[in-house]
Amino acid sequence: MVDRQDALGLPLAKHLDEADIQGFAAALRGDLIRPEDDRYHASRVVFNAMVDRHPALIVRCAGGADVMRGVDFARSHSVPLSIRGGGHSVAGKAVCDGGLMLDLSPMKGIRVDPVRKTAEAQAGLTLGEFDHETQAFGLATTLGVVSVTGIAGLTLGGGLGWLNGLHGLACDNLISADVVTADGRLLRTSEEENEDLFWGIRGGGGNFGVVTSFGYRLHSVSRVLAGGLSYPLSKAHEVLRFYHEFANECPDELSTTASLGVSPDGDGVVSVSVCYCGSLDEGERVLRPLREFGSPLADNIEPMAYTALQSTPDAGFPPGRRHYWKSSYLKELSDEAIEVMVEYVSEMPSSATGVGLQQMHGVASRVDPTATAFPHRDEHYDLLILSQWADPAESESNVEWTRSLFEAMKPFFEGGVYVNNLGDEGEDRVREAYGANYERLLALKGKYDPTNLFRLNQNIKPPNQTTSSPVS
Ligand SMILES: Cc1cc2nc3c(=O)[nH]c(=O)nc-3n(C[C@H](O)[C@H](O)[C@H](O)COP(=O)(O)OP(=O)(O)OC[C@H]3O[C@@H](n4cnc5c(N)ncnc54)[C@H](O)[C@@H]3O)c2cc1C
Repeated sequence: MVDRQDALGLPLAKHLDEADIQGFAAALRGDLIRPEDDRYHASRVVFNAMVDRHPALIVRCAGGADVMRGVDFARSHSVPLSIRGGGHSVAGKAVCDGGLMLDLSPMKGIRVDPVRKTAEAQAGLTLGEFDHETQAFGLATTLGVVSVTGIAGLTLGGGLGWLNGLHGLACDNLISADVVTADGRLLRTSEEENEDLFWGIRGGGGNFGVVTSFGYRLHSVSRVLAGGLSYPLSKAHEVLRFYHEFANECPDELSTTASLGVSPDGDGVVSVSVCYCGSLDEGERVLRPLREFGSPLADNIEPMAYTALQSTPDAGFPPGRRHYWKSSYLKELSDEAIEVMVEYVSEMPSSATGVGLQQMHGVASRVDPTATAFPHRDEHYDLLILSQWADPAESESNVEWTRSLFEAMKPFFEGGVYVNNLGDEGEDRVREAYGANYERLLALKGKYDPTNLFRLNQNIKPPNQTTSSPVS
């Protein structure tokens, strides 16, 4: 009964049969929310306020059975299907127009096995919720660096965080996952079962199915030596040159980031942040050269609980802001590249914006690029121009500034892009994100999702599919 198509050629579910919708609702354990429901607006909102889409139906999934029924309903009624984990993707593809949104955020079960050092975690957990449970046993695994992000989208795209040098990416720590595929079956995946699918979901995003539960390997993580140093932006050249040498030499136990932005009192700053995960005495020794370099405006590196570190930046990413990001990988930090960044940061239209360099190294960089679907294995920085602002009237100037800085930085990039930093940037950028693993992912897509039911993501189009997405 679907009778209209949107601008992308996707069917809109405006004229679904009412009896079918009622039947669907009755078959669910979770709630089915429709536009007339008081909870509709809050349920369709995602992190990036630039995204304003209106699904016809939202299922607040209570468990795997709701996910299976939702996938069956979307397939059999040919409605667009979007999958929401934590809702923090900048592209905002967790929410769709006119279709069915499967919201897994109510699914927050987690079971930690402290003896085997593993966790079985449902897909609706945020990083903070996951860390809260695992840290009760002095355990953790690599996730991202902002605790309100969802584990699902983050892990499926790779997952770069403070423990990457010592323990690899989040996806490297997956030992299993339960996946509902396009035919509505729930498949257990691991190195032993459905291993091709298990390979694909470790970097291939939501292209192959809906993950209801992730099995993670955990590691002993107690107090960490962590925090940051900040300097005036005028010192950016010396600081970043030194930082680059220091980061290149640092042991796996230490992971670092650097950023350029504006301090709360409006001055340009360059900051270096660190997390040493190991003996605190050894951490003090390793960090001494960095802490003795120059005259920082502030040095707040200290021993702290891992959960405290993970939630430190949260306040910088409040809900309701508009986001526009551009990103690529950077191997060298040349004087020219630093000059470009300093020049642009001095003229940023929003003081909430920042340019971040997140170091990938150690174990994360030593994994074979074809061992998982995540291809960008190298010692390098994930450079992210993270623009955020509140006022819709300022969107044009912020987007323009971001694009312009990205263009100016292009000569310095090594190429490639982290899939979880991508907005709607067109097929070439999607290919860049999957890199050398693209062809293998394409074959996998043909096997598990030949009709592209799971297309609202950084999409790998199966052969014979031509739907294109807008570029921004
Ligand atoms: C403030 C902030 C900080 C960040 N910091 C980091 C960082 O330090 N390291 C890092 O690696 N990344 C970081 N990211 C990027 C983050 O990895 C992505 O935004 C990621 O998509 C978030 O996952 P989510 O579940 O919250 O997103 P969602 O928007 O819910 O999901 C993103 C996409 O993933 C797919 N998906 C989600 N859940 C499922 C599922 N259960 N099954 C199948 N497909 C699914 C869907 O295609 C969906 O559109 C950060 C993002 C933000 C906003």
